Amino acid sequence: MTSYEFDLFVIGAGSGGVRAARMAAQTGARVAVAEAGALGGTCVNVGCIPKKLYSYAAHYAEAFEQAKGYGWRSLKHPTLDWDALKANRKQEITRLNGVYGRLLDGAAAKLIRGWARLLDSHTVAVKTPEGEQRYTAKNILIATGGKAYLPSFEGSELACTSDDMFDLAPFPRRLVVVGGGYIACEFASIFNGLGAQVTQLYRGEQVLRDFDEDVRHFIAAEVRKAGVDLRVKTDVTRIVRAADGLELTLTDGSKLAADVVLYATGRIPNVDGLGLEALGVQQKESGAVVVNAMYQSSVPSIYAVGDVTARVQLTPVALGEAMVVVDHLFGNGKRAMGYDYIPTAVFTHPNIGTVGLSEHDARKKYGEVSIFKTDFKPLLHTLSGSSERCMMKLIVDVASDRVVGLHMVGPDAGEIVQGFAVAMRAGATKAIFDSTIGIHPTMAEEFVTMRQPVA
Ligand code: FAD
Ligand code: NDP
Repeated sequence: MTSYEFDLFVIGAGSGGVRAARMAAQTGARVAVAEAGALGGTCVNVGCIPKKLYSYAAHYAEAFEQAKGYGWRSLKHPTLDWDALKANRKQEITRLNGVYGRLLDGAAAKLIRGWARLLDSHTVAVKTPEGEQRYTAKNILIATGGKAYLPSFEGSELACTSDDMFDLAPFPRRLVVVGGGYIACEFASIFNGLGAQVTQLYRGEQVLRDFDEDVRHFIAAEVRKAGVDLRVKTDVTRIVRAADGLELTLTDGSKLAADVVLYATGRIPNVDGLGLEALGVQQKESGAVVVNAMYQSSVPSIYAVGDVTARVQLTPVALGEAMVVVDHLFGNGKRAMGYDYIPTAVFTHPNIGTVGLSEHDARKKYGEVSIFKTDFKPLLHTLSGSSERCMMKLIVDVASDRVVGLHMVGPDAGEIVQGFAVAMRAGATKAIFDSTIGIHPTMAEEFVTMRQPVA
């Protein structure tokens, strides 16, 4: 029988990789994990965490403004110390990098610092400053994540990606954001809140394709009210350096000046140089590794989870997938990952929280659906002076009475929707929502008090 040095070799110590390495090592398996960059991957270093910290920072701008209506005085000119925010973020991320290292250590997973590639279906080579080391493993997990995609056009090298946004120097006075997905919408709101003059350009009819239509229109109106100059059906044809920063030419021929141009136009799998083609690992056109329900690739000893499979690119999904792989290889194989009712939030200002189907998809799937909708001024804003509104929507399959879509645009929508996602996975019907007592006075209680369908 062939003997291998490791039972599992994980490539990439990001969300999925660290979870898989830790959980596998805790079962007693011999585990190694190779990481070329900082521990924690995209989410910890240039994704969810620093993004959310900057979102919190940006919310203070509204809070200072709104506090006046509640009687607070002497908040006339609060100013942002961008360097202090960057330094504090960096300190917190460094702390988290350490936590991830200790998690791996504590589980006795061997961390190898360096860039890994596959030599054959059981051998990995890791390039370190000291040279290349080879390791053999019974199974290999590719958890290499993704990277920003930036289309190529005249001057595209002058644009930056979300990775560059956290350490910009100096703070951009004029920011142009291109794209209409999660990252574009979030960064437009965040930098608007932090004090930049933000223009967001989206090539399509409305931002956040695939989200519920009402949510898309509602958030577009809210971010415009908050100060983002959101222009749809608009794209960039070229970028040139100008005397005062950058000059963009738009598809309608007009010009736009900017200090920084952020391209948030999607992410592509991190597979370059991994050696997948030579091994015959089946990939999609984008390079994404094709996997089965157990995250096994077309080469049986090679597995893949997270963004490198380009399915649902969310941290909790990468974590869930990693747990399935570990359970399949080292447990009782009972764990499976359900892709229905994955809740998600977009940290725009205000936030979007959503779980289940959009109205459009629900009608396609179920035929007859009831829609319950409300749009109101949150109690908070009765005194704050803000014109921000909140929107909530439920979509119910008439045949089963099951709530199949739940959407919210409003403060803390992500926090609110998480709990409802549990109910919806458990199959909650509208009757159960109706019989649930609300918590008063909250925004969330509206989800259990909407009685009259609107359509
Ligand atoms: P990653 O976390 O990207 O980890 C991959 C790791 O592999 C990296 O550390 C990389 O250095 C390493 N690596 C790559 N190739 C090699 C190699 N050959 N050898 C060694 N190491 C290698 N998701 C949410 O759920 N909520 C959010 O709020 C959210 N916000 C986001 C904001 C931004 C700006 C971005 C970009 C993403 C955000 N995401 C969010 C998505 C989330 O970050 C990803 O879905 C998640 O990190 C994917 O985890 P992963 O394990 O697949 O890959
Ligand atoms: P998305 O796929 O969400 O959005 C990409 C956007 O770029 C779309 O609006 C797309 O337009 C547009 N686009 C694509 N190509 C071009 C082009 N050539 N020119 C102009 N516009 C273009 O990707 P993101 O980069 O925003 O985020 C990647 C993923 O990361 C997300 O899908 C999400 O899974 C994850 N993420 C999650 C977050 C969260 O949970 N809060 C936050 C941030 C990221 P069109 O719609 O027309 O195709």
